[in-house]
Order: sequence, then structure tokens, then C-alpha cells
Amino acid sequence: MIRKFISRVFGHKSPSSAGEPAIIGVARHGIRREAISSGSRRTVETLQQQGYKAYVVGGAVRDLLAGMTPKDYDVATNATPEQVRQCFRRSRIIGRRFQIVHVSMGAETIEVTTFRGHHGEAGSQASSKAQTDEQGRVLRDNVFGSEQDDAARRDFTVNALYFDPTSETIVDYHHGLADLKQKTLRMIGDPKTRYREDPVRMLRAVRLAAKLGLTIDPDASRPIREMSELIENVPPSRLFDEMLKLLTSGYAVKCVQQLRAEGLHRGLLPLLDVILEEEIGKRFVTLALESTDRRVREGKPISPGFLFATLLWSQVLSKWEAIKAGGERPTPALFLAMDEVLEVQAEKLAITRRVAGDIKDIWALQPRFEQRSGKRPYGVLEQPRFKAAYDFLLLRAESGEVDAELGQWWTDFMNRDGEARAAMLLPPKPDEAKKRRRRKRKPAAGATQ
Ligand code: ATP
Ligand code: MG
Repeated sequence: MIRKFISRVFGHKSPSSAGEPAIIGVARHGIRREAISSGSRRTVETLQQQGYKAYVVGGAVRDLLAGMTPKDYDVATNATPEQVRQCFRRSRIIGRRFQIVHVSMGAETIEVTTFRGHHGEAGSQASSKAQTDEQGRVLRDNVFGSEQDDAARRDFTVNALYFDPTSETIVDYHHGLADLKQKTLRMIGDPKTRYREDPVRMLRAVRLAAKLGLTIDPDASRPIREMSELIENVPPSRLFDEMLKLLTSGYAVKCVQQLRAEGLHRGLLPLLDVILEEEIGKRFVTLALESTDRRVREGKPISPGFLFATLLWSQVLSKWEAIKAGGERPTPALFLAMDEVLEVQAEKLAITRRVAGDIKDIWALQPRFEQRSGKRPYGVLEQPRFKAAYDFLLLRAESGEVDAELGQWWTDFMNRDGEARAAMLLPPKPDEAKKRRRRKRKPAAGATQ
């Protein structure tokens, strides 16, 4: 009923049961060819000049319609990867799960994908059976299909809009434009089946809804709670990529709130389970995510290492305390706690080795901020990851985990030099002096990094 009304208002034809798409003219959708990047436009035009069909598709069309700047551009075509490669001198075929062609246009890289089919669906041109695992997750998805098949295997209706810059029309198979105007994120096909095929779609639903201010259609949000466990079945490296996208979307706070509302945070991210339940942890993570969101929206770079260091910190803290309570000295106890937390995390979410290195550097410097006498603070300033570790300390101070005075001291120490800096040093604590003498005789394991 509402849909009928919407299509009347926006004037586009409802797709018939035969799958006829609505062809929407620029007068109705408002996207001019100049709105897309010059690289994506040239890519589409070149393919069309060679006699192929080609469109800008997916997130870029969706974001433009929503008044946002697209992050990147995807092009869909009926040319095979090999044919695409022959059209562009600077291009290469990449990808294992699906073959994609990366076309370089100046500084831009355009992802060109051949129309793909939805496996085994009645009436689909692509009739081969998809390879799935025991839970129904699709393992390989590399069957070419028609334009219509390609639209049907996309996840949400707002992601299945095909923009042709030459005619400035949008091809809409699944009422995507109407859904976007209605601020609804609707799954194409049966949501349960689509989540089973690829549980990451649950995370995509949360991320896209938060980013675009859409409401997840009840049919698509209802099954999430009962199906959330399927996330555990997703390879940890893919989960890491998706979580990183979510946390760096510029809407991380909203995404995390939504993850909780959908019951998706449990198990998926053990880190979110614990952190968000206790006050200091919650405050700390919220502050971290808010500052990340701000940076992303200002177009500043953000560091995945810093981000994950904040998310996992409360676990490190409690493990650190427990190990110290067992009689271990603070520094080795911290290193044990760090390794344990990262190990447990790796079972779910494969943090890359480089990011894990950054995380450890940030954590390892934290106890060294407590030492404010003698030569030690000078050594801390020299550390390559000092700035990130200092920002981390400020967050700890702001959340109330450590004294605000400690953060201020380091700000001042950093900003002063010479005499003024030296005057700030605290006298060594009596027990510290004793410890230092002991360490000279027998260096503590793992005390340096
Ligand atoms: P963004 O680029 O903002 O992260 P996006 O929707 O463009 O969002 P991409 O990962 O770039 O996300 O995917 C491009 C398009 O490919 C999507 O718009 C969607 O049509 C399709 N797509 C991506 N992931 C999936 C998936 N898991 N299942 C079905 N279709 C997908
Ligand atoms: Mg995209």
C-alpha cells in the first residue's frame, strides 16, 4: 500500500513479476553525470564504447542519492574480467572469492565487477549450485549472470541501484529509490536465507543503517537476534575487515549502540560484551569512538591500532590486575596480560600482525607514563609510538581511569623544554630507587620493548 503510494508519488513504474526494472530519469533522482568521479565515469564510458553494458552501482549511487560523498566507486558490467582488462591499459585482475578488475584512472582505483548470478535460484541464468558450508554460508560466488541476476544477489534494495552516466538514468529492480526516500533498509529476498548465505550481512545492515540514518526493515532486523551466532562461523580475517569498516565509518558510536540493540555484540566481539557493561570501560570506549568518529568526519586519518587498543584495554586491565595479584611484577604481568588478550581475540577476529604490533606498543608505554623521575620520561618521549600512547593516556585520564593530573603533566612535559622541562621531574620514590638498584644487577624480563 505504502509502496504503491510511494511509486505513484515518485512516478516510477513498479517492477513487474517478470523483473522489469524501473528506469528513473534524472528529473526524478537528481544525480547528474558530473556528480560521479571522473575515473568512474571514464571507466563506464570506455566499456560502453566497446559495446558492453556498464553502470556505476552499489554504495556510490546510494550515498550520492543520500547526499553523502561516496568513499569509492564500483562499476558493474557484462564484460568478463578478461574483457575488462583488455579495455584498460592500467588494470589488473584481483580477488580470490570473486574476480574483480581494478582499473587505475589517475589517482583513482575503480573496482569493476562482472554481473554475477545468484546460485541455483529458479529463473536465474546462473543455475549452478553454490558451494556452502554446513551452516549454509556461501563459500564461492563467482558465477556470471545477467544484469537482473546481479541486482538480485546484492544485499539491500538501496545497494542495487544502477546509474548510467551516459543517459543519466538509474535502473532500479528492487524499489531501492523508494526505500531510500522512505529511509528503510530492506533486504532483497528472504532475510533469513540471505543472512545464512553470508552472516556478515547482519553487520552490514547495522553499519549502513547507522551511516545513512535508515531504519532496518522489521523483516530484516527480526531474525538478527536469533541468527547472530552465525557470525562466529565467518572467517576471522573477514570479520576484522568488516569491524574495521564499521568502526571507521564515522558512525562508530551509533553502530556499536545498534549492535547492542540488535543483540549482535555478544560473542561477536567479546570485547564489547565486557567493556560496555561496566561504567569506566563504557565511558572510555565511548570517548574513543567519539573521537574516532570526529576524525573520520573531518577527513583525518585514524589508526586501527589505536582503535583496537582502546576496545581491548579494559580486558588487559583486569587481566593485568589478576596476574599482579598472583605475585608477578607489574611489567612482565602487563606483557602476559597483553598476549593473553590478543590471543583470545584472534580466535574471533583476526587482527593483522602489523596492527597487533601497534596495539602492543601503545599498551606497553602506559605504565611508563607513571614514572616521572630521573631520565625515564625523556626516554618515553623518544618512543616512536609516543604520540599514540599519549593520546591513549589522555583518554584514560578523561574517562577517570587515571588521574587527570597525570595526563596534564605529560602535556606540559611534552610542550616544555630545557630547564622548564627538567624542573617538572618528580623526586624518585624511595622504593623506586631501591628497585632500580636491584634491576641493575638482574634485568627484568620484557621490561624493554
Ligand atoms: P561502503 O563502500 O560504504 O562500505 P558498499 O555498500 O559500497 O558500502 P561494498 O563492500 O563496497 O559496500 O560493496 C559494494 C556493493 O556490493 C554493495 O553496495 C552491494 O550491492 C554489494 N555487496 C557488498 N557486500 C555484499 C554482501 N555481503 N552480500 C551481497 N551484496 C553485497
Ligand atoms: Mg563501496
